[in-house]
Amino acid sequence: MNTKFDLFDINTLATPCYVTDEGLLRKNLSVLKTVRERTGCKILLAQKAFSMYETYPMIAEYLDGTTASGLNEALLGHEYMGNKEVHVYSPAYRSDDFQKLTQICDHIVFNSCEQWKKYRDMVSKSGRNIKCGIRLNPKYSEIETDIYNPCFTGSRLGTTRDNFDPSCLEGISGLHFHTMCEQNSDTLERTVHAAEEKFGEYFAQMEWLNFGGGHHITREDYDVERLIRIIDYVQQKYGVQMYLEPGEAVALNAGFLVAEVLDTMKNGMDIAIIDASAACHMPDVLEMPYRPNIIGSGKAGEKAYTYRLGAATCLAGDIIGDYSFDEPLKAGDRLVFCDMAIYSMCKNNTFNGINLPDICYNTSEGMKLIKRFGYEDFKCRL
Ligand SMILES: *Cc1c(COP(=O)(O)O)cnc(C)c1O
Repeated sequence: MNTKFDLFDINTLATPCYVTDEGLLRKNLSVLKTVRERTGCKILLAQKAFSMYETYPMIAEYLDGTTASGLNEALLGHEYMGNKEVHVYSPAYRSDDFQKLTQICDHIVFNSCEQWKKYRDMVSKSGRNIKCGIRLNPKYSEIETDIYNPCFTGSRLGTTRDNFDPSCLEGISGLHFHTMCEQNSDTLERTVHAAEEKFGEYFAQMEWLNFGGGHHITREDYDVERLIRIIDYVQQKYGVQMYLEPGEAVALNAGFLVAEVLDTMKNGMDIAIIDASAACHMPDVLEMPYRPNIIGSGKAGEKAYTYRLGAATCLAGDIIGDYSFDEPLKAGDRLVFCDMAIYSMCKNNTFNGINLPDICYNTSEGMKLIKRFGYEDFKCRL
């Protein structure tokens, strides 16, 4: 099979293999840097989506730091992103972790007034100038999939207006909300107004506001000008420093997963078994769910030869999807899955004893193998 692809030579890589492309990453980062420069807003990498720390020193040229969902991510950002800001938010902190977080974090966001009251003495005893914030739940979100909607009924993520106790704001310098997922700036605009309606009276007494992630800033049709207007409006109206913490937007479309066809077979249709797994290597394909693009392929029936692509695992549902190709697939053919830098490496697993893909970095100096996994990596988690 002929796959037209000129970023790197897919045939010399060992498979399966994640390849992150430096040029594509820099392209995204330049867009984010422009937003920072034009507004004075600070932008952090949300490591939950992308934590290939090999790239952190380069990312540090463009962004203000990292945000973390807990201790391990905070340590990674602290260790590899130079002297940049380290932020953390967790729905609830363990006290042993919290002690360590006070040694490395610049911002700590609490999910509730109760969490803040529990830990504020540890914050002051740290002797460090840590800025503390409360995560709000403005009960406004345009996300339709509950699993990704922090405002769905009964959500534990953030404090609602009903449960918000303004008397706990002493010592709090900022407010945080995160209610978006892969959305454009028109959603942010409506969200900001909804948040203002509920909590606006407290915005002006803050030093900073953090509007979380889910901003698809580097997507082709994203309205960056509107984002800039919103940031200007908020910063001027309330006299605050704004933060955004996108994950996806940093590495959107900047990585690939290269896989190989191991075998083909028939069962009422053509089937190809490949050496990458949805369950292990691209879990969002099953969880979200979504259908990743494969270079040179079409939808089922669109091109001459349609295959159901499945993994070499024992999970019946470990199916990536139905795809069509110009030529029949055969063992040894390479497939290139797109947009595989985000929510992939940081989310994969060794279910079924399936090996983890290599991690490669395609740089201006050529292809670098960053990591290769084997039996020891499988064994050490069990
Ligand atoms: C997930 C998350 C992010 C990043 O979200 P993306 O959709 O990857 O941009 C940022 N902040 C918080 C609090 C998050 O939970």
